[in-house]
Amino acid sequence: MASIFTKIVNGEIPSYKITEDEHYYAFLDINPNAVGHTLCIPKEEVDKIFDLSEEAYIGLMRFSRKVAIAIEKAIPCQRVGMTVIGLEVPHAHVHLIPLQNMESMNF
Ligand code: 5GP
Repeated sequence: MASIFTKIVNGEIPSYKITEDEHYYAFLDINPNAVGHTLCIPKEEVDKIFDLSEEAYIGLMRFSRKVAIAIEKAIPCQRVGMTVIGLEVPHAHVHLIPLQNMESMNF
């Protein structure tokens, strides 16, 4: 069965898309820890991020950096943090979270 994120990529589940390219897709997290909390995913469905091929992994990092730089310009913040959790959705993804201070976080 396709993951929720594959369904998002295919347009079967709506998302607020930030950007995409041939292999990667970025969209807002439905339950954000801060305004602008974005998820970057490979379109290829692989559960654990470290199981991606080296090429796909590096491609995801390169894509995430471009998205993070764009977020930093668009949203007032000290910096954009990046984290990988992956406990809820079995489709590799990177969280990009604009950070201001701990009080602004929704953890
Ligand atoms: P993790 O797997 O890294 O623990 O968390 C998965 C993240 O995906 C969570 O922050 C959750 O809010 C987000 N998420 C889960 N389902 C959806 C969805 O259908 N749409 C969007 N935009 N985000 C989702």
